[in-house]
Amino acid sequence: MNVAQIDEFFARLAARNPDPKTELRYSSPFTLLAAVMLSAQATDTSVNKATPALFKAANTPAKMADLGPAGILPYIKTIGLYRTKAKNLAALSQMLVDRHGGEVPADRDALQELPGAGRKTANVVLNTLFGHPTIAVDTHVFRVSNRTGLAPGKDVMAVEAALDEVVPDKWKMGAHHWLILHGRYTCVARLPKCPICPVAELCAFKDKTPPTPASVTPRAKPAVKSRQRDKQTPSSQRRAAKVRSGKRGRG
Ligand code: SF4
Repeated sequence: MNVAQIDEFFARLAARNPDPKTELRYSSPFTLLAAVMLSAQATDTSVNKATPALFKAANTPAKMADLGPAGILPYIKTIGLYRTKAKNLAALSQMLVDRHGGEVPADRDALQELPGAGRKTANVVLNTLFGHPTIAVDTHVFRVSNRTGLAPGKDVMAVEAALDEVVPDKWKMGAHHWLILHGRYTCVARLPKCPICPVAELCAFKDKTPPTPASVTPRAKPAVKSRQRDKQTPSSQRRAAKVRSGKRGRG
């Protein structure tokens, strides 16, 4: 994609969703950090099902550290890799208490040092909480960036670097969310919804899903011609004749 196409690509995604946000539920910097960490290799939906009860039990690093891995585990059993994540969440919380006064640090290195919080978590937190123009690359962003030709790369780091280079500054704050949502709902892994895709003409993917009858907008029915509309059926003619002759029909 050239510069103008990339601008148009984001303009179209932005037009559909001017203020994109994470779909993870959170109520504070700490609960966002915890939710993002828990969402690694799991769906946001599975995390959102588990976190209301977890955060009711512990919504601060101190309370979460007190809960400990054994106390966290029952709340997150429906999330993938829950045993490791329970240990990491307890250790991450303890580290926030010990090193950062119970606050979420606005610093990439400090975030990436937290147990279970890798580069993606740091990017999401920096972007969502602290307004940094970072573009976190998850499975959806990776797929969309490669398929469309927006920012091809063989691994996550290569795609992140490519996005950083080609995405115009004005779109950087929302780019992560727009790309995730586009990959989650339209440019899906198995059968991308190309026939209804808002950026189809800009996309370089060679194996676009062809239109099906169901995906083509049905044509409006032709207007009934006035002469046909006025044409009466034999039964309606009989009813009309009865009315004219003063007889009333039944029912
Ligand atoms: S046209 Fe298809 S492959 Fe390209 S971005 Fe849209 S949904 Fe994805």
